[in-house]
Amino acid sequence: MVSRVTVRCPGCDQLITLRLSVGASEVQPFYYVCGKCNAATRGRLIAKPPDLKLELEAGEQIEGFHETEQIVTIDANLPARFDARNMWDPGGSPFIFLSMILGPKGADALNGRKTQFRHLVKGNWVDLKRLLRYYIDRNWTMFDKGLGKFLQETNVSRPWHRHDAIHKLLDIFTAPIWAQDIYPRMKAEWNSIFVPKGTYAERVISLSQDLSNDPEIIELQEHLFDCFTTYVEEHDAILPGFVAESLPEPLDQYGDLRVLRDDFPALRDVYIQVFETCHKALPVLVEMVNMAKRGAPDLYLHPSDIRRPPRTRSQFHKLTSNDKTKYLVELQVWSEGWAFCLDRHLRNRIGHRQVRHDLSTGTLSGTSDDPIPYTVFLAETHRLLYPILTVLNAIKIPLVCADMTADGGKVET
Ligand SMILES: [Zn+2]
Repeated sequence: MVSRVTVRCPGCDQLITLRLSVGASEVQPFYYVCGKCNAATRGRLIAKPPDLKLELEAGEQIEGFHETEQIVTIDANLPARFDARNMWDPGGSPFIFLSMILGPKGADALNGRKTQFRHLVKGNWVDLKRLLRYYIDRNWTMFDKGLGKFLQETNVSRPWHRHDAIHKLLDIFTAPIWAQDIYPRMKAEWNSIFVPKGTYAERVISLSQDLSNDPEIIELQEHLFDCFTTYVEEHDAILPGFVAESLPEPLDQYGDLRVLRDDFPALRDVYIQVFETCHKALPVLVEMVNMAKRGAPDLYLHPSDIRRPPRTRSQFHKLTSNDKTKYLVELQVWSEGWAFCLDRHLRNRIGHRQVRHDLSTGTLSGTSDDPIPYTVFLAETHRLLYPILTVLNAIKIPLVCADMTADGGKVET
């Protein structure tokens, strides 16, 4: 549904017609930019059927119907051509523009996936979040009870089923908004290293037992679940990034593609939190690779450009994030995926306090570097889901392995 309202620009006083899409959420933040004086004005559309209320930070809403020179179409949940000032310009209607790019079926399918994800969040997120807490607390009585709500057929007949089930739930929950296949590919590569008949299988089992009692592992899981929680709770702000990620061409091919909402302060925190947490997992993960490939957790394959090669986990922790990732060299898909999903350049840029979302230009600016389009930032923020899931699944392997071993090797499914 589109709501048509007339507003007065707080800068130049010109009347502007806003054609606002009433979105999926009750409170829809947005902004518009005046085509005459380039001033940006934030607003919120509050939809409580049958009422629609508009809140503007400046300027005013003018009652009644007015012919205006400027008509601005806003769907704050879809990237759209900013230079399309009218309905009849290509991109003037964000949804039609999307249908032109993806074809009507493709646009429908994409929309369906977004709706499915929103539906899952609305219906299940609170229960799933509680289950994550029980899992971290290893409160198996409450966990098993809570799990029954989600997976009717799963009876936790073996302890390792719990590790499997909770991660399966995270996959089911988020699969509608996977735009690339990098997560399943990274997961497959990891699993291919830890095979029961590997050269150092016995030692891997012994390391798994150590790791399953290692407080660092539980703390890592907890921090990754925190990342997952923040991601889900900011999903409304991130979903336009999912749409941007689902377009077939690089974003700059579509002209000035903008998302007319601003969630930069919250999403900057999400980006930095996920980036740092995933890198903190690398010391443990690289130990596991060392064990599986060379038979000891501290047998590192040192890249030639590391100044002080680490000998222990605590020394490895002290490496810069950039140096830590160099130890992923033995995992081709991980190396590729890590760089794709966790953009160091972006992380460093948004870490500067003076960086802000300039609404008039639709970019992150404030430093001397080239501005980053906010739509690109959203697309990259959407990708953070994959390393969260990948690292959680990588940590799951030793826990499953340790539980199976303690269980006398029973792998009944
Ligand atoms: Zn103006």
